[in-house]
Amino acid sequence: MRRLIAAALGAASWSAAEYGLHRFAMHEMRGRGLASKEHLRHHADVTYFSPTSKKLLSAAVTTAVVLPVATALTDRWTARSYTGGMITMYFTYEVIHRRAHTHPPRNAYGRWVRRSHLHHHFGAPMRNIGVTSPVWDRALGTYDDPGVVTVPRRMAPVWLLDADGEVRPEYAADYVARGAIRSTDAQREADRRDAFSNVAPPAEVLDAAAVAPRPAPDAVTR
Ligand SMILES: [Zn+2]
Ligand SMILES: [Zn+2]
Repeated sequence: MRRLIAAALGAASWSAAEYGLHRFAMHEMRGRGLASKEHLRHHADVTYFSPTSKKLLSAAVTTAVVLPVATALTDRWTARSYTGGMITMYFTYEVIHRRAHTHPPRNAYGRWVRRSHLHHHFGAPMRNIGVTSPVWDRALGTYDDPGVVTVPRRMAPVWLLDADGEVRPEYAADYVARGAIRSTDAQREADRRDAFSNVAPPAEVLDAAAVAPRPAPDAVTR
């Protein structure tokens, strides 16, 4: 029972870490440090996700920090359960985040995750910092009700748009899509600058005349 409670507490601690790391170590660092660089690269190009090797490294670093501290504070198995709960929740977060970009919602929670996270990407990168839960945003005053989210077509998740680049009817109450579906080199550069300055990307493409091919749909599985 003690181990079970420790694992649940570890999982809950991840939620605070998810908020703190995403806000302070990723966005506020504006590209300084590996975690910030990787995350803001994902904001500049939403088909980019850190490779698994870097996620395993994050889990290893977290374990290396948390486990000795927990072991110093309690017995070995309680400390292991706590750390295990935290790491399990970390990988759950990675899956939920990835799927928000690559797969359509299947229930009310999935619908909220996508609306809130796409608002974070395209509406206000310093708001709705929590991906799996709004708890810390509400506590710390960074939560926006996502409302109807405006998505730049060039950055829209594959599940959101139909073959003509329009929002699928089942998502029309939650999203509008704007701008060109194809990007330009100048726009990609501007998107990168915006991402590293925590500015939401504009819906309209800068120079629609110079078109470049959109990443192939299978690029999202990277
Ligand atoms: Zn994302
Ligand atoms: Zn972010």
